[in-house]
Amino acid sequence: MRDLYLLHLTSTSGISLLTGPLPLIEAMAFVDAHVLPHGWQHRYRGVVPADEAIIHLTVLPPKDGPVPGNDLMVALRRAIVCDPGLDGADDARTRQLLAHVDAHRPLQLWTGPEECLLGECDHDERGTRSRCPGVVPAERLCTVCSVIHDNGSEYGPEYLLRVAWPCTVITTACSRFQITVAAPAGGR
Ligand SMILES: [Zn+2]
Ligand SMILES: [Zn+2]
Repeated sequence: MRDLYLLHLTSTSGISLLTGPLPLIEAMAFVDAHVLPHGWQHRYRGVVPADEAIIHLTVLPPKDGPVPGNDLMVALRRAIVCDPGLDGADDARTRQLLAHVDAHRPLQLWTGPEECLLGECDHDERGTRSRCPGVVPAERLCTVCSVIHDNGSEYGPEYLLRVAWPCTVITTACSRFQITVAAPAGGR
């Protein structure tokens, strides 16, 4: 891993900043010069550069094909970058739109018998798939519009607010940039 760190800075009044990445020596110098004299707390967080992250990510084979809904996100991003009213990826308006829209990604939920969901069943038609065929797509949620509370429980996160994907941010962006939203494939 290359020597890069994010600095997570918090003030006594509760303001929180994430800055960097910086090499560790520069990050420490930054803390000495700018953080400690003003009474802020700091924590270092290691960063894995994108080209090295790809090596880790590709150790395991891809799961059951592309993430459902990802094709719509790709089409929407392309439509924003190519919009004749904007000036491509160099336009600050394009970047603002891309960053806003990108957060509203779909989260696919799955359903099936508990044994199959936990990977403890004896079904062996699984083949190269990571999931038992008894596990089928359920609803899709917007990851930022929904409130997902993860307390590390073995039963997974708790969905305090379920906002279906595509949410209104995505449907509004799709209509603005003339992308057709297909009806969701999975049942609810
Ligand atoms: Zn959303
Ligand atoms: Zn099964």
